[in-house]
Amino acid sequence: MRIVNVAGRLGLLTDEGVIDVAEASDGRFSPDVQAVYERWPEFSAWAARATGAPYRPWEEERAESPAPRPGQLFAIGLNYLDHAEEAGLDAPVDSMVVFTKFQSSITGPAAEVELPQGSVDFEAELVVVMGRHAHRIDATQAWDHVAGLTVGQDLSEREMQLRPPSPQFNMGKSFPGFAPMGPALVSVDEFENPDDLAIGCTLNGVPMQQSRTKLMIFPVAEIIARLSATVALRPGDVIFTGTPAGIGFARDPKVLLAPGDELVTSIENIGSIRTRFRADS
Ligand code: ZN
Repeated sequence: MRIVNVAGRLGLLTDEGVIDVAEASDGRFSPDVQAVYERWPEFSAWAARATGAPYRPWEEERAESPAPRPGQLFAIGLNYLDHAEEAGLDAPVDSMVVFTKFQSSITGPAAEVELPQGSVDFEAELVVVMGRHAHRIDATQAWDHVAGLTVGQDLSEREMQLRPPSPQFNMGKSFPGFAPMGPALVSVDEFENPDDLAIGCTLNGVPMQQSRTKLMIFPVAEIIARLSATVALRPGDVIFTGTPAGIGFARDPKVLLAPGDELVTSIENIGSIRTRFRADS
């Protein structure tokens, strides 16, 4: 199943087009996309039988984030060995690096983002959306608590992120539009192996990052187990799972996002998001 957010309404994406869930379910499910995760098992059962409902054309330009207002948005740092190396940092062994992106940084899969002052960089990331409450769960149970996967960009203003005396990851990664996501939320059963997906991004058509999610130091199930050991995860919570090598700040010379740039981020079996950038006004 693929769910989408079309101009603020929950849709089910099929080969023929988009089914408006609130209409097709006669109001049983709200048009509010974020609300569906609270009833994910019930919704999944309904969606599996939702055929013959009215279709609308899928207009990706009108799509918004499939998880627009998560209660919590976690992000994992240094989760690929080659990225830890390019950042000049030791790869984590026992302690997973966790930070947050504030909710107001979320935007859709076809967004134009204003560049703040500083050095703005890209990070292609697999994004997990939770479908059940999860607290103190084991890694073997973790995937059962996931609603699905989507494509994300962990946009980062490096100067604020890394400024002494103490790094400010949460702030440097939370400017408006710094968490584009989409285009669809793809349920876990749609993947042959959700732990091994091609991931990458191009900047103005030039490949910048190319990797596979199986190279994560902490795979998705381990991330969920470790987060849930401390925090109570809720349906609709979002987890950015870290980026592979190839970011702009680690290049010589550095590649920083500039007005007019177009960044396309893709993950196998999910799709692509396209982010354009404009100058600080
Ligand atoms: Zn990141």
